[in-house]
Amino acid sequence: MDYLKLTDFYEKLEKTSKRLEKTEILSQLLKDLRAEESEAVLNLIQGRVFPNWDERKIGVSDKLVIKAMNIATGISKEEIEKLWVKLGDLGEVSEEITKKKKQTTLRSKKLMVDFVYKTIRELAALEGEGAVNKKTGLIAELLTSAQPQEAKFIVRTLLEDLRVGAGEGTVRDAMVWAFFKEKLKIKYDPVNNQVEMPEGARKEYDFYCEKVQRACDLTNDFAEVFRIIKEEGINGLDRISLKGGKPINMMLFQKARNIAEAFEIVGKPAAFEYKYDGFRLQIHAVKGKILLFTRSLENVTAQFPDVADAVKKYVKGDNYILDAEVIGIDPKTKKWLPFQAISQRIKRKYDIEELAGKIPVMVNVFDIVQYGGKSVLEAPFKDRRKLIEKIVQEVPEKIGPAAEIITSDPAEAEKFYKKALSLGNEGMMAKNLEGIYKPGSRVGYGIKIKPILETLDVVITGAEWGTGKRANWLSSFTISCLTKDKSGFIEVGQVGTGIKEKPEGGVSFEELTKLLKPHVLKHEGKTVQVKPIVIIEVAYEEIQRSTNYNSGFALRFPRLITLRAEKPVKEINTLEDVEKIYLQQRSRHLK
Ligand code: AMP
Repeated sequence: MDYLKLTDFYEKLEKTSKRLEKTEILSQLLKDLRAEESEAVLNLIQGRVFPNWDERKIGVSDKLVIKAMNIATGISKEEIEKLWVKLGDLGEVSEEITKKKKQTTLRSKKLMVDFVYKTIRELAALEGEGAVNKKTGLIAELLTSAQPQEAKFIVRTLLEDLRVGAGEGTVRDAMVWAFFKEKLKIKYDPVNNQVEMPEGARKEYDFYCEKVQRACDLTNDFAEVFRIIKEEGINGLDRISLKGGKPINMMLFQKARNIAEAFEIVGKPAAFEYKYDGFRLQIHAVKGKILLFTRSLENVTAQFPDVADAVKKYVKGDNYILDAEVIGIDPKTKKWLPFQAISQRIKRKYDIEELAGKIPVMVNVFDIVQYGGKSVLEAPFKDRRKLIEKIVQEVPEKIGPAAEIITSDPAEAEKFYKKALSLGNEGMMAKNLEGIYKPGSRVGYGIKIKPILETLDVVITGAEWGTGKRANWLSSFTISCLTKDKSGFIEVGQVGTGIKEKPEGGVSFEELTKLLKPHVLKHEGKTVQVKPIVIIEVAYEEIQRSTNYNSGFALRFPRLITLRAEKPVKEINTLEDVEKIYLQQRSRHLK
């Protein structure tokens, strides 16, 4: 396929925010797609050239792309950077300057999808001496052959920022439409943005959706699913099963406000487990080799040799897949550490053994999806749990089955919850004893219960101009609280979520930009300092110690709740409040 044709689809997708319309557009693209091209197209359409569980990364910086743009067009770096500030998106800059460039004679060849895909993948393999020059050369070559529209999307793909809004769910639905829309006489009505199908077709449609969803959850490989349907029909998907070494989407959990609600959702009796404050690992044992994947299915095997050793030593059998939460252990006191203490281990690329010695971790196995090469996805949780207890040895501070009780008694569950919190856990999980393991779904076989932290009233003291669709808006806001003596302000984080794209049903970027723009004190590239007058209420997951902000603290995952226009700035929260909440959290962790 011609890359220009693919970018026409990108353009169409970018123009609409309606999910159904996007599904329709994508289904048109997939309808005539050949099986050989499916890998390239299905990855590129999602803005990537490797599946997310693949260790390879494109590894290209803004700077390198600017250099390549300069080589391809002859336009100076300074001019490119100036345009970048104006347009807020390097992709659009690339489009503009390609339009401007006069040396059209230089255009050597028509770009094909396969070629673009292959070239971008090649970039990831370049390492060591001369890699930067080779990368720049390859990108410049692509851009030299590109039409303006192609240049825009090549740059965005390189920077892993495609932004056409084709999420996994939309692509999955589009696959079903591409193959079965005609057969089922499904029609998309763009005026009312709704789907119509004849009476009776719905059941068959749901059946197809479910099969495709299951296949995608198990393989995480849209191209493979596409190829099988194309070549063998929908029933070909039945032969897809779990494959050790290839991560599956993890089961997700719903939230309950309290124990009564948790019982309502998961039934009685229920299993209650500690909700460990660590990070999730999917552990694969394949022919004696251990592979580890994070929740976003990133391969982190290299970072955790200690986990692999513990698993090899203390888990019986081979060819299995476990679901576990890994927590940090203080090597001196043996107390459990909060997530932030071990987060650096996930990204660490050097001195791994040394760091593993300094920050040891413990593996808490809470589920199992394959054993002895056979799937146990459909087995009820109570049986999967029994299997875990049979095969996972309990070794203090190293590995063990997740702490669990089974009860129908709310008082007993409450006691367990208090104990969970006092040990430094985030909360408690409640699980349906009969529930199967449903990859990628938030079905409600598992429920989380966490204490709710109070919100903070803070003031906006800085912001950053957005990019892409948000180019005309301030989009990321630095938030501050009062100093202890209330004489000034001190930064505690940055908030960009909880804010609406459109001015309806909440505080929008446009509204905040209008409020702040007249009070800009200083510009520095894309960042601005503003007078502290706009007060907002923020929620957050946790307060962490941090060197990123001058308060020494950072709110983890802050989210804007509302504007507090009525509140005088002298009454917002102070650093003392922040410290107090931090210590409360900490004492929870250290008790
Ligand atoms: P949340 O991240 O708030 O949606 O909570 C779900 C996460 O809690 C899971 O993805 C796991 O990483 C983590 N977790 C900790 N302990 C458990 C447990 N016993 N069972 C399931 N998930 C757990």
